[in-house]
Amino acid sequence: MDTSIKSTLESHGIRLPEGSRVSAWINNHKWNTAIIRNTCPSYIANGILTIPLSRHGQDNTRYWKFEPKGHYSVKSGYRIGIGLHNPPEHQSDASTMESWWKFIWALSIPPKIRVFWWRAFHNIIPTEQNLRRHHVPVSGWCPLCINQEDSTSHAIISCPMVRGFWKGNHVWTKLKRTGCSAIQDICFWVMNHLSKADCEEFMCQAWLIWSVRCSFLHDQEKQELQPPRTNASVLLDDYRAAVRDLSINQHHTATTSQETWQPPLEGTVRIDVDASFNTAANVCGLGGLIRGNDGTMVIAFGLAIPKPDTVVMGELFAIREGLRLAKEKGFHDICLSSDSLLAVQAVTSPTSDLSYVGSCAQEIRCLCLDFTSATLLHVRRSANEVAHFLSKFAISSPAPFEWVPGNSPLWWTNL
Ligand SMILES: [Zn+2]
Repeated sequence: MDTSIKSTLESHGIRLPEGSRVSAWINNHKWNTAIIRNTCPSYIANGILTIPLSRHGQDNTRYWKFEPKGHYSVKSGYRIGIGLHNPPEHQSDASTMESWWKFIWALSIPPKIRVFWWRAFHNIIPTEQNLRRHHVPVSGWCPLCINQEDSTSHAIISCPMVRGFWKGNHVWTKLKRTGCSAIQDICFWVMNHLSKADCEEFMCQAWLIWSVRCSFLHDQEKQELQPPRTNASVLLDDYRAAVRDLSINQHHTATTSQETWQPPLEGTVRIDVDASFNTAANVCGLGGLIRGNDGTMVIAFGLAIPKPDTVVMGELFAIREGLRLAKEKGFHDICLSSDSLLAVQAVTSPTSDLSYVGSCAQEIRCLCLDFTSATLLHVRRSANEVAHFLSKFAISSPAPFEWVPGNSPLWWTNL
């Protein structure tokens, strides 16, 4: 099979045996519907089945679909390059992804589970099959049952070793009856056929199963696969209670005219960040402060970078820096606050954004995955004064700084 066709299919998580040929999918000048539907998720299978086949059995040739006669022209290439003419399949790909993204953002599930499902949909969770696609030298077979290819859906749904953890889950039973096997088909089935509550529970249970699988595979000492320590409904209840507490706090602070700094939940650190700009010197200062539940400083930081094009980019860089530092220092539960509503909205927005702002926001969402829990808050300027001060100070500071208690300038300690 042509390597470009093969790699396109592989990017959608479809693995084909070595030496596969397109002709194996064609029978008597007609597409072999059964094989194609068995191999590919329905949205790809539908695309393939709409390709007309020649009745004359002529040789394969490449053609340029944006010119009536199929010959490449610089003019049409240029129009596509500048986005005047979008190939239809890219549009449908983008809207497929966008509908999935919008759907998972509207669910009331912990952000790490939301991001897990976004990654599962794109076949970028580290199953053996996905690792192989990224040229990691692994077998591609499921390390638990050693009997089947380790696809995303196998790992979390159909592997015989995890089936027991789905016992009694009515959504899982229904899903098995549909015969959906590709992860994208499962995602669309979930999206289109389940109530919001069922979706949320199903997605949490799948994540719990993925978590026990990962901890079993990465912990050499574990002798057997342990069932999840909690179940999806308990996890969801805990999450919703935490969100409720947080929204009560936010509501409370929003109604007071001078918003003040609020301590994070117990066991969580709060990271306040800000960016300041010196247009004349073309410098942007990023600064912030990590504090514990009792309000004491854990670390203060600041650094200067070349001034980005927009203010919101600077604010996003400050958020990224705060997360990077919290990760480096080994914190697991964090609450990060920024006084830039635009930056917070960029990170929490459900719509896909292909601009620099969108890609920086996406990077921040991925960084959040490394924490057990991560909350992003928008606060008023008045609740962010210390971070603002540090970002201003960073502009004139000759070098990046990280201050910890017992190792910070005297004037800062006395402030
Ligand atoms: Zn398996």
